[in-house]
Amino acid sequence: MHTELSWDAPRGGMEASCRQALCLGLPAIAFTDHADFDGGGWPDHRPLDVAAYHRQIERCRQLFPGLRILSGIELGHPHRFPAETAAVLAAGPLDRVLGSAHCVERQGRLADISLPGLLSAGSAEVFRDYLAEVLDLVRSPVPFSVLAHLDYPKRYWPRSQLAFREQDYEEEYRAVLREAAGRGLTLELNTTRGGGMDRLCPGPTVLRWWVEAGGRSLSFGSDAHEPTMIARGFELASQVAEAAGFHPSPDPTGFWLR
Ligand SMILES: [Zn+2]
Repeated sequence: MHTELSWDAPRGGMEASCRQALCLGLPAIAFTDHADFDGGGWPDHRPLDVAAYHRQIERCRQLFPGLRILSGIELGHPHRFPAETAAVLAAGPLDRVLGSAHCVERQGRLADISLPGLLSAGSAEVFRDYLAEVLDLVRSPVPFSVLAHLDYPKRYWPRSQLAFREQDYEEEYRAVLREAAGRGLTLELNTTRGGGMDRLCPGPTVLRWWVEAGGRSLSFGSDAHEPTMIARGFELASQVAEAAGFHPSPDPTGFWLR
């Protein structure tokens, strides 16, 4: 999940999120704040204050000794920003390093998929460009271990104009999954804050392709941007993961494996 240190999560509240995690009976929580080096057209973007992030993690670990607090980061398009990425990774220890993409390139600049109108003006082409960007990320030498929300554009898909069917992009999906399995990445099952099956990124079909590609591990993320959204959709995610042959690790903070 994200905290107030992420540029897009002003209501994040790391301390309140720890309290909520304890309320829900969670054994652990991972804060993977956004390190984006380009806002993709959103004017409120700002770089992560990584020193403040590590201070806040330490403060919460002292406040909540009964909760395991994992540090982490979500690197946005890190393959395009190797020097900035290296600086963020060198700033302190991180338990979880996620790699992600939120944008496609348009007129030489990164454009966030969630910008109004971007997907409606040619969804299939935008989605293929997006998966090509994810393939570049996975092929890059950037050190990360979890591939976040593989098919993020699903969240903003103009379903009234065009149905979303994974099969239409099977070749592009499988290319990413093969590469990701080959480098031993963990695939994130992102529940989009409990948005249901349509907003599970990725869904059961892609999970089956992940298994066929040799993928061995799964991570769960609610992508909460505020404390009340923590762990939303995890019940659905665990059902889908189990149906695909994955099982919880004996370590409650560990990845699900098959
Ligand atoms: Zn993200």
